[in-house]
Amino acid sequence: MICLRCGNCCRYLDIFVINPRSILPDGTLDPHDPECMIFKPEGDVCPHLTCDGDVAVCTIHHLPCYQGTPCRQFEQLGPEDEVCIMSGYFEHCLMFSAKKVRNKPD
Ligand code: SF4
Ligand code: SF4
Repeated sequence: MICLRCGNCCRYLDIFVINPRSILPDGTLDPHDPECMIFKPEGDVCPHLTCDGDVAVCTIHHLPCYQGTPCRQFEQLGPEDEVCIMSGYFEHCLMFSAKKVRNKPD
């Protein structure tokens, strides 16, 4: 799957991510830390997400602790040579919910 780096999945998915406080100096996690994964609910921006201009950047993408996470597994979904379809899906959902808010009676 080719990621467009829109960052929408890091904002709009319910997902478990690495607890920022659990990352050791060498980029690994203490295997005995019971709170090394935290729940990131839909609509909350992941604490590891930042931007470089218009490009979304995951600040832990290169670390050993990222391996095996749900995010890592998510990237492996779909054919390797096709553009991510979730980006367009999220944009559609956002437009739909914005319309719903606009049409909501006072
Ligand atoms: S929604 Fe798709 S294109 Fe956007 S950041 Fe996530 S994986 Fe990449
Ligand atoms: S850990 Fe990285 S890839 Fe996963 S939601 Fe956070 S910023 Fe996105």
